[in-house]
Amino acid sequence: MRLTRYFLPVTKETPADAQIVSHQLMLRAGLIRQTAAGIYAWLPLGFRVLNRIEQIVREEQDRAGAIELLMPTIQSADLWRQSGRYDAYGPEMLRFPDRKGTEMLYGPTNEEMITQIFLASVKSYRDLPRTLYHIQWKFRDEIRPRFGIMRGREFLMKDAYSFDLDEDGLKASYEAMFVAYLRTFARLGLQAVPVKAPTGPIGGDLSHEFHILAETGESAIFYDAALEDISRDELLSADAATIARLTSLYAMEEEEHAKVAECPVPAERLRSRRGIEVGHIFAFGTKYSASMGLSVQTADGTSVHPQMGSYGVGVSRLMGAIIEASHDSSGIVWPESVAPFRVGLVNMRADDAKVTSAADDIYRQLQNAGVDTLYDDRDERGGAKFAGMDLIGLPWQLIVGPRGLERGVVELKNRATGEREELSLESALARLTA
Ligand code: ATP
Ligand code: MG
Repeated sequence: MRLTRYFLPVTKETPADAQIVSHQLMLRAGLIRQTAAGIYAWLPLGFRVLNRIEQIVREEQDRAGAIELLMPTIQSADLWRQSGRYDAYGPEMLRFPDRKGTEMLYGPTNEEMITQIFLASVKSYRDLPRTLYHIQWKFRDEIRPRFGIMRGREFLMKDAYSFDLDEDGLKASYEAMFVAYLRTFARLGLQAVPVKAPTGPIGGDLSHEFHILAETGESAIFYDAALEDISRDELLSADAATIARLTSLYAMEEEEHAKVAECPVPAERLRSRRGIEVGHIFAFGTKYSASMGLSVQTADGTSVHPQMGSYGVGVSRLMGAIIEASHDSSGIVWPESVAPFRVGLVNMRADDAKVTSAADDIYRQLQNAGVDTLYDDRDERGGAKFAGMDLIGLPWQLIVGPRGLERGVVELKNRATGEREELSLESALARLTA
């Protein structure tokens, strides 16, 4: 993509209303634009990152055996009356009538809808177990939307729902999602801590929140320092044993921690830090299947209400969490897996025909090799171009200038380490296309 034809409104000023660094950087780097309180447009660069995050979430859901579908954002109030949640949900739910006066709402979550869809077609134990998911916009009229897309009113969520015949099945579905979450966050370059969450009146211990440790997190969590030593490789190859080990290590939100009479972690190993909740998985049994009349025939001819669970990931919130975890004083440092472009190609002298022709040629070669490249072909000072590239945080910068060209070299800069290297054009291309 040529910057002269792109839409990338970067700004130097730090917006006054943005309190945390991810929000400031998302506005400055031209990723998002607020259109109303807690509602954001995703500008081209931000949309590319959002799609990358979404795709990693999707691949890990698919890998875990979940099946993708797409449910609508608008739901009917009557559907929610069936589970009794219409009145229970409160003012976070955006409610409105359609032209005929039918009460509608913008979905804050989809348990009722997926149960209704399942109910319409599934009658037999042969159709279970199943886990269905979608990646869809949600609306919650948060009392205090803040921190940009981190706590928005409209936000993108992956929500999955599992249906099983019995509790053992539910446990297996839950563990498959647990593994998917560990792998998802590891692939996004994040260190997520699974925190035991309260299960309410349903009981049991199958509810976990996944938190990214960051100063700006909204939750305070207490956890065993051993959780910091889990390696990325271990998370990527997670299995039932990994889950057993991770969940045996203490981790609680402040409110729950305060209720624990005797903390099992020795003081020297107990850590207290803030966390950003990026995911929540929850087994709730027959809550919706029973209230909405979903039952299936078992092999021996009786009928049961399926055991269900729901599994959310804050896809848009993750972008803020990634930036909180990966930035420096010059800007964002995208992990390769979600970077909007892999390479930022900088033409140091757009007013010099020789340099421009060399840079154009490199751009073509990168394109032909399938390397996502943002080409700064503007007629601007080198300093401004470097600052812009550092701000938007692409993993690699390839710098083409007149002095280097005379010696047959270009400069390759690694955004994360700051390392710069002079290379022949061939070696630089070989490196980036590897
Ligand atoms: P929170 O405690 O942050 O309000 P929640 O418990 O309401 O979260 P869930 O209903 O479990 O969240 O939703 C699943 C995921 O969706 C959360 O783990 C979070 O990552 C994300 N999420 C929830 N609310 C918002 C929001 N207002 N803006 C962005 N992401 C959100
Ligand atoms: Mg909430």
